[in-house]
Amino acid sequence: MHELSYATSMLNTILDTINNSDFKDENIKRVSKINLEIGELTFINVEQLKFAFEVVSQSTLCEGAEIEVEYIKPRVLCNNCGYEGDLDAKDEFDILCPKCQSLSLKIRGGKEFNIKNITLEFDEVDKDQ
Ligand SMILES: [Zn+2]
Repeated sequence: MHELSYATSMLNTILDTINNSDFKDENIKRVSKINLEIGELTFINVEQLKFAFEVVSQSTLCEGAEIEVEYIKPRVLCNNCGYEGDLDAKDEFDILCPKCQSLSLKIRGGKEFNIKNITLEFDEVDKDQ
């Protein structure tokens, strides 16, 4: 299941980013939301990704984070007929030119897996009571 490796690398990236950021000394309570950009040609099953992330993020700052996904449509250029545009692919065996069915394509997008941004929740700092 390749969702598990995406989930693991996502978790490591987020935790590394926090550790290397200016926020690390503040009272970060948790990561409440994660916005992802996923290219359709990764064929990631988002439900499986969310489930895998729930498992690997247990007892980390990311536990319970909400995941929101924005899909990126693949764009291709056909070497055979010159078609340039979107591609609708059901699976990795379905990557062919929508016009001439050629397999000889230049893929210009759709394989992205980006963490666009994360939302942090901070602990209330104790004030004089
Ligand atoms: Zn074509």
